[in-house]
Amino acid sequence: MPTRTKEVDMRYLVNFIVAVTVVVPVLSQTMPPAVIVIRAGVLIDGNSDQPRRDQVIVIRGNRIESVSDAANAKIPAGVSTIDLSHATVLPGLIDSHTHIFLQGEELAQGGYDANILKYPLALRAARATVAARRALEQGFTTLRDVETEGAGYGDVGIKMAIAGGYIPGPRLSVATRAISTTGGYNLEGYAPELDMPKGAQIIDGPVEARKAAREQLDHGADWIKVYMTHRSWVGKNGELVSQPTLTVEELRAIVDETHGWGKKVACHAYNGIGLQRALDGGCDSIEHGLEITDAQIAQMVKQGTWYCPTLAAYYHDWAPADTPSGRRDRKRVSEHGVSLQKAVKAGVKIVFGTDMGGIPWTEPMAQEFPRMTEFGMSPMDTIKSATSRAAEMLDMAGQIGVIVAGAYADVRIRVGSGPPVTKSP
Ligand SMILES: [Zn+2]
Repeated sequence: MPTRTKEVDMRYLVNFIVAVTVVVPVLSQTMPPAVIVIRAGVLIDGNSDQPRRDQVIVIRGNRIESVSDAANAKIPAGVSTIDLSHATVLPGLIDSHTHIFLQGEELAQGGYDANILKYPLALRAARATVAARRALEQGFTTLRDVETEGAGYGDVGIKMAIAGGYIPGPRLSVATRAISTTGGYNLEGYAPELDMPKGAQIIDGPVEARKAAREQLDHGADWIKVYMTHRSWVGKNGELVSQPTLTVEELRAIVDETHGWGKKVACHAYNGIGLQRALDGGCDSIEHGLEITDAQIAQMVKQGTWYCPTLAAYYHDWAPADTPSGRRDRKRVSEHGVSLQKAVKAGVKIVFGTDMGGIPWTEPMAQEFPRMTEFGMSPMDTIKSATSRAAEMLDMAGQIGVIVAGAYADVRIRVGSGPPVTKSP
């Protein structure tokens, strides 16, 4: 295991959150909005490079009304104050790559396939509500959930249940079914005579591609997720190879349709031909991006493409070192860090993503932070990638991921000694 900077290892962070998110609008229809005042010992506001000491945050209803120095703060009379003068306050975090309908499937329990072949949809939905609650408990108040893995439009339903105040959970931006091609998604490895269900919507040709995007957008997709690579292995010369799926023409049809609806396209792409097609086809965000060439980095900067690396997920479940899968697992990780380092240097727009669901939801989501710092991001940049930068990608800049006047009151508190960054004033 590579060494990590101790000060930024937030995996064991003791934290709790005050999530004044989606329940409040329901209540506020009948009563005047509640006012809450938070005294913050240290405030990381999501925008600034430096934390600020002794700040007062006034929250009215589900919005932040003002943020000011404690010395000259105007605190409304008779309101309850939460004293966090010995704690660090930061915006509710945003995870831009999760799967609430996956549970880190273990092979011993039937692996990925059991999800689709054996589990009633109600069981999967019930477990998705637990995943959503766990994210909220860890301070994540927004998730971009990038496909349901065979659970259809279940994510739209969970999003409605959270927004309606029926269950606790973060604000969700959902991708519904995702899109890949024939030969480009599980379930696979069954007798060819069987017509097996797939974990994504399968298309072949630009007409089917556009139709799938239309269907998904029509049924509530906030993002369209496309798998631009599928299988991966180590090639003859020791290089990482990944199987491309959609053609540029197929992807362009999806991107054109989705942009027309004012929405964006996230592309799962490891490297090589598939990653190049993702960029040429106009993808808005590259997911994973294990091996990105210098020319592709330059293209991402030029096109303003977002990069969601999801590093930690690839440190899980390695096959034995002397097997083809084991060699591939190790190769993926060795290329990934280099790609992030290059992206950081070139100024690619980076967002925080865990691929939770690929990782069991019982594990800490914050494990991605030390991986990002390990490969060249500053601690504050990792926080921004999980707050204001992600908000920008989600077209919610100024609304979420920041503690400033006018934003939603998604507030996360770190209890313990000192701020969660190495440098503080
Ligand atoms: Zn994923």
